Amino acid sequence: MDTIKLRKYQERLLRRREQILTTVRHLEEESQEVAGKRHFDWLDQAWDENEIRLLDRLSDAYLREMGRIEMALGRMLAGTYGLCLACHRPIEYRRLDIFPEIEFCLGCQDLRESFERASRAS
Ligand SMILES: [Zn+2]
Repeated sequence: MDTIKLRKYQERLLRRREQILTTVRHLEEESQEVAGKRHFDWLDQAWDENEIRLLDRLSDAYLREMGRIEMALGRMLAGTYGLCLACHRPIEYRRLDIFPEIEFCLGCQDLRESFERASRAS
């Protein structure tokens, strides 16, 4: 991959990482705020417990995305960015344009997904 493209993807990854950090920080603040609230009755409490669980799940999803971004930045340093983790062939640019942190080429992603579907079905 040429340096200009690489820089473009790197900038997007770094920007996204910043966004996620800010969002997760907000989610944690919100979660703490809800956790510290006084409750009037069990319904009120159940409502808030639900909200905390929801906020936690959201944070988890963002942190997982963050992990993929860190890995992608690591691959940039290692010089293997843009190569499929399974077959080591270049990942399609149109896929990298949408998800710069993507790990697999289209063929390998399809294979993995059908494998996952099959193992869920059994
Ligand atoms: Zn592949």
